[in-house]
Amino acid sequence: MAERSYDFLMPSVNFFGPGVISKIGDRAKMLGMKKPVIVTDKFLEGLKDGAVEQTLDSLKAAGVDYVVYNNVEPNPKIRNIKEVKKLYEESGADSIITVGGGSAHDTGKGAGIILTNGDDITKLAGIETLDKALPPLIAVNTTAGTGSELTRHAVITNEETHLKFVVVSWRNIPLVSFNDPTLMLDVPKGLTAATGMDAFVQAVEPYVSVDHNPITDSQCVEAIKLIETSLREAVANGHNLDARTKMVEAEMLAGMAFNNANLGYVHAMAHQLGGQYDAPHGVCCALLLPYVEEYNIIACPDRFAQLAEIMGENTEGLSTRDAAELAIKAMKQLSEDVGIPHSIKEIGAKPEDFELMAENALKDGNAFSNPRKGTKEDIIKIFQAAYDAE
Ligand code: NAD
Repeated sequence: MAERSYDFLMPSVNFFGPGVISKIGDRAKMLGMKKPVIVTDKFLEGLKDGAVEQTLDSLKAAGVDYVVYNNVEPNPKIRNIKEVKKLYEESGADSIITVGGGSAHDTGKGAGIILTNGDDITKLAGIETLDKALPPLIAVNTTAGTGSELTRHAVITNEETHLKFVVVSWRNIPLVSFNDPTLMLDVPKGLTAATGMDAFVQAVEPYVSVDHNPITDSQCVEAIKLIETSLREAVANGHNLDARTKMVEAEMLAGMAFNNANLGYVHAMAHQLGGQYDAPHGVCCALLLPYVEEYNIIACPDRFAQLAEIMGENTEGLSTRDAAELAIKAMKQLSEDVGIPHSIKEIGAKPEDFELMAENALKDGNAFSNPRKGTKEDIIKIFQAAYDAE
């Protein structure tokens, strides 16, 4: 057996299941939080009996004071994390609770980073660049999803350069995460599909990543099976608690997998689309997935053939290559069934941007674990294929 060693990172405590949100006040108190900044957006803050209201009720019941920042934007920007830092300092806060999807968690992590590691977050892009611990952080998750509530990644967009970059550090992992599927029952169809496809890509990319290991493999396999059997239902019938619960389990498994086995070109390229056109992250990932993985097949055809089986395809009697192609077909079908558009044209992509985006994608931290090493020209071709798709 090949020699290998790796760190395996997970958050210490993860509350999972219907109703767990009611425990957040006591847990915040247990962590010694006296005045957290609640990092969220106006829509979630206004939801009757939603995640923010339930979080605040639980904090009040536990006698924990708080202050609310409600200006999180999708693809969170540097200005957002600076605003949170200012509020934190001016209000005498001592901790952070993020309530929302990946954008809220990444805003909270980004603010925590600049509170303790210096003001210029762009200098901290990369892997294990943080010297100091962030303030105590709890993440209440409302999408299934990015996995950000339990990962070491903070994905931030520089609004001046339109570059989306990642700070990857074990110090970013929230101390506690909450995943309560009852908070996700009213997520609209489009968002359910986009976030569910993000979770799917976050299970596929670590499965074929050069950094995969037996632990992450088992997480990817289970996540893919759960998504294959419950995402369509979660989109079609959002109030099906069983489907929502399975999607949360899937996104947690995928989050743990990519936290350790990393991602690949889909994410490296999706970050360019998100930064350049402010497009929803899950949609960007889903649009690129089949074209990146078609390109990747020759690097690990066996893994792709296995993916076809994991997705429930009948590969009996097929060559490895044909079985691998069946996996790509099944990925396209899943996207189609949940209503993802077909071409990156539909999110505003322009061929004249492909060259610069390809250059930047190859510098993105996620590119290094992709199973096939590509050139700028290869990446441009993949963008073009995702653009030409009908
Ligand atoms: P999001 O956080 O951007 O939220 C999208 C919209 O959904 C918002 O308008 C929000 O108000 C709404 N919303 C959230 N929860 C809802 C609910 N329960 N009901 C109704 N509406 C709800 O979406 P996302 O896909 O969760 O996060 C995307 C961001 O996360 C991107 O910036 C992406 O790059 C990043 N990301 C981070 C990681 C990581 O590990 N840090 C991993 C993958 C993606």
